[in-house]
Parts: sequence; structure tokens; C-alpha cells
Amino acid sequence: MKTIGLTGGIASGKTTVSNTLRELGAVIIDADKIAREVVEKGKPAYVDIVSYFGEEILLKNDQLDRKKLGSIVFSNPCHLEKLNQFTHPRIFKAIDKKINYYKQNQSNRVIILDAALLIETDLKNKVDEVWIVVVPKILQIQRLMERDGLSFEEANQRIKSQMPTEKKIPFADRLINNSGDLEELIKQVKKIWGMIMRE
Ligand code: ATP
Repeated sequence: MKTIGLTGGIASGKTTVSNTLRELGAVIIDADKIAREVVEKGKPAYVDIVSYFGEEILLKNDQLDRKKLGSIVFSNPCHLEKLNQFTHPRIFKAIDKKINYYKQNQSNRVIILDAALLIETDLKNKVDEVWIVVVPKILQIQRLMERDGLSFEEANQRIKSQMPTEKKIPFADRLINNSGDLEELIKQVKKIWGMIMRE
């Protein structure tokens, strides 16, 4: 069965789409979850991060203070590059391992790799198809503000810090249009599922 990379901008609806695909029978690899796992206390990426950024980026329980780390790296590109050097190869390796595991052990199932940075990284080369969730910017801002309790400016800033969706679209084998309500989105995903099941 196929391995499909699912991507799209922040709050575009990737999780909603992947949850629907899971219910339909796909196996989901959540890149965000893996990214959190590789920096858990004691893991090699954690050790590198603490030795570079210092113990002041730790919470009282010794886990990384992701918020603090985020504010440091997003205000300094050199620090961001360093953090990516510590984490990205390990995230990619873990994803690769998971894809290979599912290919061997769940070979009759569709594998979905849900990854915000699919296009920006080598992850796009690990999948057979790229699906992109597309949403009009105004709805994206609205949903992001609502979900994360952000102001208009904060939501806009987060969207602007990502690769623009227009630049990702040429890489897409399929676009999922999330400009309607949740019911329409789920209906669309079910229709696409039906199509790939017949391929
Ligand atoms: P992130 O990039 O932050 O992981 P995401 O792409 O996974 O986000 P979701 O979390 O699925 O996006 O969706 C963002 C928010 O918008 C959620 O609160 C979700 O319930 C809501 N949402 C998604 N699609 C719709 C829709 N069609 N109508 C209304 N709300 C929606």
C-alpha cells in the first residue's frame, strides 16, 4: 500500500484530516509527536540541546521548556539552525524507522505521514504521494486564533513564519480544500479514500 505525506500550513486542518483517515483504516505517523519524543529527557537530542543552550532552558522537572526554547530560536536564526541540527536528523531517522516498520508489518494499510515540514525537508522523498490541506488565509487565522487563543497579529505572524502554501502547491499530488465546514471536510476525505482504495 501507499505511503502518503500529508501537509499544509498551521491550523489548516491536517490533524482533522489524519483523524478521519485513521478512522477509515489508515495508519498515521505524526511527525510532531516524534519531534516531541526525540527531545525527551535523557535522549541524545536532549543532551545536545542542554549542553548548547544551558540548563536555563529546562523546566523544574528537567524536561525542556519548549516555550522558552521557541522564543530563543525564533528570535535568532543561528540558534534555530543549531536546534534543527540536533533534532532533524534524529526525527528523520525515527520517521524512516516507523515507515519501514509499517511497510513490513502493516503492508495492507495506507500509511499517512502527517508532517508540517514535509515539503521543506527531505521527508517529501520518503512518500509516494503528497497531499496538501489548503485553506483561505482568513479562515486559517480565524481557526488558529480560536484554537490557540491568539490575537490576530500573533496568528498572522505564525502563518507568515511558514513557507507560503502557494509555494507548496506545485509539490502536491492532491489538494484537500478546507474552506467549508467540518462536515464538508470529512466528506471530502471519505471521497478521496474511496478513490485511493479503488486505485
Ligand atoms: P497544526 O499545524 O497546528 O498542527 P492542523 O493543520 O493539524 O494544525 P487542525 O488542528 O486539524 O489543524 O485544525 C485547526 C483548528 O481548526 C482546529 O481547532 C479544528 O477543529 C478547526 N477546524 C479544522 N477544519 C475546520 C473546518 N472545516 N471548519 C471549522 N473548524 C475547523
